[in-house]
Amino acid sequence: MHIHFLGAADTVTGSKHLVDTGSHRILLDCGLFQGYKNLRERNWSRLAVSARHIDTVVLSHAHLDHSGYLPALVKQGFHGRVFATPATCDLAEVLLLDSAHLQEEDARRANLYGYSKHTPAEPLYTVDDAQRALNRLRPLPFGDEIELHPEVTVEFTPAGHLLGAATVTLRCQERTLVFSGDLGRHNDLLMPPPDPVHEADVLLVESTYGNRRHPTDDVLPLLGRLIRDTLQRGGSVLMPTFAVGRAQALILALHRLQRAGEIPAKVPIFLDSPMAAQATQLYERHQALLRVPPEEVARMCDGVTLVDTPQASEALTRSRYPRIVLSASGMATGGRVLHHLKVMAPNPKNLIVFPGFQVSGSRGAKMIAGATEVKIHGEYVPIHAEVRHLEGFSGHADADELMDWLRRFKQPPRHTYVVHGEPDAADALRTRIKEELGWRVSVPDHLARIELD
Ligand SMILES: [Zn+2]
Repeated sequence: MHIHFLGAADTVTGSKHLVDTGSHRILLDCGLFQGYKNLRERNWSRLAVSARHIDTVVLSHAHLDHSGYLPALVKQGFHGRVFATPATCDLAEVLLLDSAHLQEEDARRANLYGYSKHTPAEPLYTVDDAQRALNRLRPLPFGDEIELHPEVTVEFTPAGHLLGAATVTLRCQERTLVFSGDLGRHNDLLMPPPDPVHEADVLLVESTYGNRRHPTDDVLPLLGRLIRDTLQRGGSVLMPTFAVGRAQALILALHRLQRAGEIPAKVPIFLDSPMAAQATQLYERHQALLRVPPEEVARMCDGVTLVDTPQASEALTRSRYPRIVLSASGMATGGRVLHHLKVMAPNPKNLIVFPGFQVSGSRGAKMIAGATEVKIHGEYVPIHAEVRHLEGFSGHADADELMDWLRRFKQPPRHTYVVHGEPDAADALRTRIKEELGWRVSVPDHLARIELD
């Protein structure tokens, strides 16, 4: 039995871990690489393992860096089943169709303006491929253990982090392999803390914030003050946000700030992301998984205007009145937020708040690092607006929270592999696991193929 690390082994995206039992091949996550161009190019090179030889896919959660390669896998001939929690299946539908749409859009734009190396530019996958991938999804509720193949079972445990997000336990040939997925925080606005898992022979643990601690201050008063200051000087607020997860947390945060009188109740709030609007409905549908009282879930969108059409979105970018705009994508790598950025970034009165993790190489990462201009659709846009990164809105456990989760294991796993982190973060977590817990632990290289003892 071996594990082949096909993604998220030296970076934070492209999560793909292939477990080969000798008779079956199970792919844990099927994520897209994001961020730097050399990483994104990995999406285009052929998988080290033929898609036809993969029997089953198990998704920890719906974020694209964990699910977004699935249509490409199906396009390459994968025809097995894909297991995920019911909420993940619902969110994956929203995310994968949008991702396919963006891929098609990018290819079309590249052909129109001729800025692709490839002629004609092709999308990585189409809406049709995404639809075929979605047809392979099989919902598996938390806590139900089912047989994937003879002698191979899978079970999901709540991981916090995102609606439907799971830690995956795979039992095969008397070995228990646990994959943490992305772990959430103790005090997330929407999600309860991750459930502990007590036993593993082999453990794969994420390390997104393996070298960082989240600020302990409550993020709501800070957000309230930043918004008040911006509105007072006649500016507007732009929040590039992940459409799924962070957008709903921000809507809840703004709702609470308005109810507490921390920000004016009359300031217009726009959610300019049809995908975020769809995802918000799914949060309502699966509200039993949230830590928020149902009455508050029902009311949190009361003051929010949903922006449906591209025309309405364009009209909003031309508005001169102070406003709060939430728009995707969260790292300003694509989507409608780019049109708002072009208009809002050059004005020093405005505030741009990045509320989530920013992958190195993304526009978001450049802006929070102090870039004075960014390139959007082939042109340079100066940044004079105030730019803030509110890590308190992260959906990821920080280093201490990761260590707390690890301490709940009753015995050390025989081996622990640290994945899903930038090299510094992964190595910092590896060092802490070795020194504080005394476990056998390593950071696998990209494409490493490791025999399990
Ligand atoms: Zn995630």
